[in-house]
Amino acid sequence: MNASKRIALVAHDERKQDLLAWVRIHTDTLARHALYATGTTGKLLADACHLNITRMKSGPLGGDQMLGAMIANEELDMLIFFWDPMSAQPHDVDVKALLRMSVLYNIPTACNRSTADFLISSPHFNTAYEQKHKDYAAAIHRPV
Ligand code: PGA
Repeated sequence: MNASKRIALVAHDERKQDLLAWVRIHTDTLARHALYATGTTGKLLADACHLNITRMKSGPLGGDQMLGAMIANEELDMLIFFWDPMSAQPHDVDVKALLRMSVLYNIPTACNRSTADFLISSPHFNTAYEQKHKDYAAAIHRPV
């Protein structure tokens, strides 16, 4: 991945303020990258921090799926996803699918603030990084 990353920002309702607080601290660094978000998260962050963010649909309306498709198409480099561990989500299967894509495609993924801090302070955050891709071909072509 290039020095300038394509980063998705997503937060469930109970965690939006946590993500906003983190983004406020790191606005200048994040502004150097291409930012994407689910609908409501993106509006909140763009309005509060004056960041240029490409917004997908709202998560429950397909936004998580849209980000998952971007990962599968190798159009995203990183996922910051503050999901809510205390509330059931109507789109739980979409949440699971998005997280699965991030693992499948070896995308750096932060689901809490500590991990997001580790990612943004990594030397790889603002420099090119050669990502390893696991070859899953054998797994999908196994005999039935
Ligand atoms: P939202 O979606 O940003 O539109 O609230 C987030 C989510 O639920 O995945």
